[in-house]
Amino acid sequence: MGKHLMFGGVDVVELAERFGTPLYVTDEQRLRENFRRFKNAFSSVDSEIYYAVKANGNLAVLRILAQEGAGADVFSGGELYLARLAGIPASKILFNGNSKSDEELELAVLSGVCVSVDSFDELYALSEIAKRLGRDVEIAFRVNPDISPETHPKIATGLRESKFGIPYEEVLDAYKEAKQLEIEGGIRVCGIHCHIGSQILDVSVFKEATEKMMALVESLNEHGIELEFVDLGGGLGIPYKKDEPAPTPEDLAAQILPAFKGAKLKRRPKLILEPGRYIVGNTTILITRVNAVKRAAKHFVAVDAGFNLLIRPVLYDAYHEVAVANKIDEPPAGTYTIVGPICESGDILAKDRRLPKVERGDIIAIFDAGAYGFAMSSQYNGRPRCAEILVNNGEAEVIRRRETYDDLLKNQVVPPRLL
Ligand SMILES: *Cc1c(COP(=O)(O)O)cnc(C)c1O
Repeated sequence: MGKHLMFGGVDVVELAERFGTPLYVTDEQRLRENFRRFKNAFSSVDSEIYYAVKANGNLAVLRILAQEGAGADVFSGGELYLARLAGIPASKILFNGNSKSDEELELAVLSGVCVSVDSFDELYALSEIAKRLGRDVEIAFRVNPDISPETHPKIATGLRESKFGIPYEEVLDAYKEAKQLEIEGGIRVCGIHCHIGSQILDVSVFKEATEKMMALVESLNEHGIELEFVDLGGGLGIPYKKDEPAPTPEDLAAQILPAFKGAKLKRRPKLILEPGRYIVGNTTILITRVNAVKRAAKHFVAVDAGFNLLIRPVLYDAYHEVAVANKIDEPPAGTYTIVGPICESGDILAKDRRLPKVERGDIIAIFDAGAYGFAMSSQYNGRPRCAEILVNNGEAEVIRRRETYDDLLKNQVVPPRLL
């Protein structure tokens, strides 16, 4: 019998037996360590870490991060709801988004969270809503800093042509307009915000982004507008491949802090960062069972998880390391392409990987699946979503039950005349 992969002190093959497959498994200790390391890297200035909820919105994950003192970057009313439920205080939540509905703006105002305003349209709508509700709402503007990080084009968000934020050269006007609205009550100008992209491995772009943002903050100061915080977003990449660079939070801080501290301001604002992927990416594996192995154009391994559960390889050409969990000490014996059960030929999780001899019934572990993994899952092809497990020093607990066929019916209505 082969040796088994261990994760968070637990035998992964035993987890597959006990809870079934496919299965997402998250290591609590690693989650706490990642958060603490990120927070410590910026502790030389007044700073807060707002975890980007969209990366992994599981309530237990959010609860752990709330215990660690995290704030939250939320991108929808639903994420705001989850963050509040997990115990993250409204005073440490930034409501982001380029297309917020009236309902979401109302919810933001009533919850007392700060709103990152993405357009003049939204500024006017928010001002009206706050006045109507008789409340004050703190705002920042999302700035498009016109920066091109080296990452997949689908996750670069600070390019000039990106849909996010106020164009750099209009930012001053936006603040002047907001200051005008402040006089009428409702709006309260508090901060400035950007987010340049995701999975950034060359962190030198963060120096450029910080310099551009601090230049804006200085010029706002000269116009008599003082800000309480500067939020530089998330985006720190993680090494999905063994030989990829692995920039650390300290490397990121080394790019950001000199420019942040060096700005010529009357009073230094608070620094906010919004990591998502770095906090949760490597905390989680997806385990999946082999249903068939066949030689065709490729040596295919068909497993029970597909892009319904992990869409990153299909959406972003993303690479995830894989291993045969029940043969972890065996040497490679073939080159395999791992495919899911979905009725699409693009349903490929890993291409041409050297693995020990793979057979039906083997358990494959897909690494670094904690960010944008379960969060992007669907029921496509009539497949209920899988369970999520939290492991902590050798103990395993369910943090999301496996869906059943009944969940496929949820909210569906067949008009009585069709019965
Ligand atoms: C997605 C997102 C983040 C997190 O990005 P990561 O690459 O996961 O760190 C932070 N801020 C905003 C506004 C985002 O949209």
